[in-house]
Amino acid sequence: MPFLFDAPPVPSLSVYGSDARFPVHRIYCIGRNYADHAKEMGAQTVSRANPVFFMKPADAIVAGGGDVPYPSVTRELHHEVEMVVALARGGRDIDAAHALECVFGYGVGLDLTRRDLQAAMKAKGLPWDVAKGFDASAPVSALRAASDIGHPAHTRLSLAVNGDTRQDTDIADMIFPVAEIIAELSKLFELKPGDLIFTGTPAGVGPLVRGDHFVAELAGVARLEGRIA
Ligand code: MN
Repeated sequence: MPFLFDAPPVPSLSVYGSDARFPVHRIYCIGRNYADHAKEMGAQTVSRANPVFFMKPADAIVAGGGDVPYPSVTRELHHEVEMVVALARGGRDIDAAHALECVFGYGVGLDLTRRDLQAAMKAKGLPWDVAKGFDASAPVSALRAASDIGHPAHTRLSLAVNGDTRQDTDIADMIFPVAEIIAELSKLFELKPGDLIFTGTPAGVGPLVRGDHFVAELAGVARLEGRIA
């Protein structure tokens, strides 16, 4: 049967060393996954009992970076540099011991945040969607296949804005490592090929303004460069 109007295009990411693109199904995100960032956001304790998950729409992707529009209705757009995990397989109740078998590859992205709206929503106990899931809120690099580099457990994750390093960590400092994030998420959702997971940001989040130039890097894996337009 025909669609009533043209179906929306499938958001996708390029893959280093390949002509094929990675089709994006969903974008999952974990919050408070680095202790130093949880502390700077005012969390009293960092609990391993309850990972904080939220989502962005798949078409919030800005594939490969470039110009990123400054969003409406905020005066405080914040950067959060994050390692991004791309799944080639999914499932429910995935065992952490086998979770990395689901991973296609890795990239680096920005979990852009309307921090002023997020603070207002948090204060009222309301959902974060308008703070996190807005249009163009997910710039993501090309992906590096795990078949090329394996599954990095230790590497530098950093963000420079206008040449100044703002965020700098090692992914080994994640509270929930990648395999555990996949295992936890798969208790809540049936994961699918094409899912992306933003794995949380380290300390140093801060404002982006129009004209800012950013370079995000996951050393040895991926690089993302762009400008707030
Ligand atoms: Mn984040």
